[in-house]
Amino acid sequence: MPTPPDDPLPEPVAASQQKNLLSVLDATQAMLRELDGTIRFWTSGAERLYGWTSSEAVGRVSHELLQTAFPRPLHDIHAELIAQGHWQGELMHRTRDGRSLHVATHWVLQRDEAGQPSGLVETNSDITESLQADAAMRRLAAIVESSSDAIIGKDLKGIVTSWNGAAEKMFGYTAGEIIGNPILLLFPPDRVHEENDIIGRIRSGGMLDHYETVRMRKGGATFPASVSVASIRDQACSIVGASKIVRDLTEQKEREQHLREVQAQLFHAQRLTELGQLVSTLVHEVNQPLTAITNYTGAGLRLLDAGNARSATMALQKIGEQAERANQIIARLRNFVRGGATDRRPEDLGGVIDEAVALASSSLKSTDVRLRTRLHSVADKVSADRVQIQQVLFNLVRNAAEAMQQSPRREVLVATAPNSDDLIEISVADTGPGLPPEIRAHLFQPFFTTKGNGMGIGLSVCRSIVEAHGGQLWADDNPTGGTVFHFTLPRPSAVAT
Ligand code: ADP
Repeated sequence: MPTPPDDPLPEPVAASQQKNLLSVLDATQAMLRELDGTIRFWTSGAERLYGWTSSEAVGRVSHELLQTAFPRPLHDIHAELIAQGHWQGELMHRTRDGRSLHVATHWVLQRDEAGQPSGLVETNSDITESLQADAAMRRLAAIVESSSDAIIGKDLKGIVTSWNGAAEKMFGYTAGEIIGNPILLLFPPDRVHEENDIIGRIRSGGMLDHYETVRMRKGGATFPASVSVASIRDQACSIVGASKIVRDLTEQKEREQHLREVQAQLFHAQRLTELGQLVSTLVHEVNQPLTAITNYTGAGLRLLDAGNARSATMALQKIGEQAERANQIIARLRNFVRGGATDRRPEDLGGVIDEAVALASSSLKSTDVRLRTRLHSVADKVSADRVQIQQVLFNLVRNAAEAMQQSPRREVLVATAPNSDDLIEISVADTGPGLPPEIRAHLFQPFFTTKGNGMGIGLSVCRSIVEAHGGQLWADDNPTGGTVFHFTLPRPSAVAT
């Protein structure tokens, strides 16, 4: 193969190179113009950027055409251009269709053969979007910094990569102390295992939302925290780390605890009031027939002593009447305990249960009990006093929640099912400790309680209410652990006939 000659390039080759250079320049967003701004050459790149064709732009003054806003007076810029041969900075331009563009510009001075400035090449590139992205980043950074939640970045090895002001306040480490160190410094020793789960979830693209746990401050003090974690992806969409938002729940937990205490005191006070009313009515009303019985007994004994059997028999009859009166008083009291007059009518059982469960869940929220219902479609109507049955459900759900306080799983399921042609069965199942035989034996006895603040009348009242409706209330073991209370209520059809 012949070697190429060492001679300078022949004319046609130089011309074609110049053509190539022009076509490269043409692809850039550039113009050749005079110092006063008159455009002499307008590339197709500029045409794409601004919208004017070369024939529309050439001959126009660029600053007027593009409504250029300069960062400083034009004569200053020209002075720098002439002194240094080039100038670069940022300009605002307007496109043919009225859009505002932020451009990075580079001007290179051209001189004629005599060395006099004859014009310049101006190349512009659109940086509007990247500036907007920068501004969005700055806004986000400001939000992160002003957040009252700790916002922490970490890589997939669990090393802290970013740390906001709230994190510093919450955990006590400055950004300088913690960035580059393992995030495990924030975990109490018995929670260290959580990090593997979190990283596993993040690697598989998952996230963690308001996970309640415990975290550790500098110095070792622990506090209840809610943690949300989401993955961080790079431009290629690969997961490279995670952002964690940590909220300190100390105050919230204290408020909840206070609320629970107030609620417990309220329940207790309410039970005491009801019980007090009950006892004073009982004492007052039953006292009268009892006094009468005592008097008649004394009189009867004296009459028998005196051999007056006829009058003694009458005294015994009076004793019988007073005993019957005492019975009636007790029956009335029973009715009072059940909640007074009943108003039984066909009721939609689902609605009755939903309301009672909503009431219970709002008063039990703080104890973290999960309440669910499972309603059977052919067990949807009962004949019942809505308020009384809600009282029964509320009592059973509250007992279930109280029983589960120490249980790892705290779930209550309220379910309905057909029991017979006439009856519907409602059950309230919990995942608590269940019923030891010594408790089960006394469960429905009035005043039997195992609670420090209990009154022990809840279940006996529930049983009275259910029995007054023609149903039954009983307790069973929950096959999956815990207790199930069942009660039956009549279907409307069973009552109407
Ligand atoms: P109180 O709630 O005031 O104690 P109750 O008559 O409602 O009165 O309940 C009596 C007792 O029955 C309770 O103190 C408790 O020992 C027991 N009990 C009730 N419900 C449950 C349950 N779901 N699981 C375990 N024990 C329960």
